[in-house]
This record gives sequence, C-alpha cells and structure tokens, in this order.
Amino acid sequence: MRIDIISVVPELLESTLNQSILRRAQEKGLVEIVVHNLHDYAHDKRKTTDDYPFGGEAGMVMKCEPVFELIEKLQSERDYDEVIFTSPDGITYDQHEANRLSTLGNIIILCGHYKGIDFRIREHLITREISIGDYVLTGGELAAAIITDSVVRLIPGAIGDEESALTDCFQDDLLAPPVYTRPADFRGWKVPDVLLSGNFAEIEKWKEAQAYERTKQLRPDLLEKLE
Ligand code: SAH
Repeated sequence: MRIDIISVVPELLESTLNQSILRRAQEKGLVEIVVHNLHDYAHDKRKTTDDYPFGGEAGMVMKCEPVFELIEKLQSERDYDEVIFTSPDGITYDQHEANRLSTLGNIIILCGHYKGIDFRIREHLITREISIGDYVLTGGELAAAIITDSVVRLIPGAIGDEESALTDCFQDDLLAPPVYTRPADFRGWKVPDVLLSGNFAEIEKWKEAQAYERTKQLRPDLLEKLE
C-alpha cells in the first residue's frame, strides 16, 4: 500500500509517522508513506499556496493550481483508489472506514489549512471527504495522521500478533474486554481468577461477556446498531 499525504506543514507529520509500529511497517515494506510539501508546487518566489477568499470572508483559502498540479502528477505515475480530503463536514471516520481503506492499494490524503480549500478542488479531484469528529482543527495534518495510523496497523504483518488488530474495540461493533498483565496481585487488586485458570474456553466466554457488558454500559448505541 502507498499513502501520499499533501500538506503545507509537513513537519507536523514527519515525527508522528516515523515511530514505533508505523516506522516498522514502512521498514518491512508493508506500506510506503510519502509526505509532500505543497509549497514545492507553488508558482511564485514566496511559495504561496493560499489567497484571499472571493466574497470578502475572513481567513485564507488554499489555491487550486499547486494542488491540481501535484495530484495530477501523482495520478500520472500510478492509480489511486481514493483521493481523500480531511474536512469537518466529511463523513465521520470510524473503524469500518479504516478497515475499508486498509484494503486499498494507493490513497492520497490532502490536508486543508487556514479557512479551507478552493471548492473546485473538492468538486473535481476529491473522491472522499473524512472528518475525525465534530470539532475544528487548525489543519488536516492531525486528521491525516489519525487516518494513516489506524489504517497501517490493520495491514497484515504490521502488528506482531496478527490476531490483536481483530480483537480491538469496534472490530465487531463491541468494545474490547479489559486486559491485565503481571503481577496477578497488585496492592491487593487481583486479576480475575478465570484469566489465571488456563481454561481457554472459559477465558473466551469471559472475554465475550465482558465485551458485551462494557459496550452495554459505555456505548449502548453500538448494540442498537448490531440489533
Ligand atoms: N472553515 C472550515 C474549517 C477550516 S479548518 C470549516 O468551517 O469547515 C482547516 C482545515 O483543518 C480544514 O480544511 C481541514 O482540512 C482540517 N480539519 C479541521 N477540522 C477537521 C476535522 N474535524 N476532521 C478532519 N479535518 C479537519
């Protein structure tokens, strides 16, 4: 898989995407993440990528030319399955969308900044608009990092224990059961006996019941969706 991220503040992405599981996934060749500095595609000496909005609104708007030039260049080099724009008015990002994106070959993520981007980019280049929640960020970089992180960890081989990604929260619309590690007794707070029993059928049953209970308590809306 290849993920191209387009940004006017690439520094915001570089350290996030080059640590831990994401770094190892790239080293193993499971994913190639390429961050592009949109300023490199500006036409003037000052590397301007934004301009004043028509109609006299406050704030600056990202210009068409550098974005079209860069995305069309990338599209001439390989096929892309989605050209994503991070936007507070997009579809709300969730695990189902992360699963879907992780099965794709190549994607582009365009990060907005300032007041937003010229609407013609959204009409003529973008195939999917994604919001990470009902709040407004200063730019799309953190949203792109969230999307990339959640997608890469689903690629087979990215996480050591492959099962582990499948048993996470939301994978079957249930929250994950509690997890524990040693010591079995910490300050008198004991790990549930069943987990120490070695009886794997009982352990599985306990985990399922816990997942269901926690979902009922904390996120009843997920159970309604299931039904
Ligand atoms: N004026 C715009 C907000 C601009 S915020 C509006 O009201 O819709 C600047 C950029 O940050 C956006 O273009 C978008 O790329 C990114 N952004 C802000 N909030 C976001 C969110 N919740 N999800 C994804 N991207 C977001």
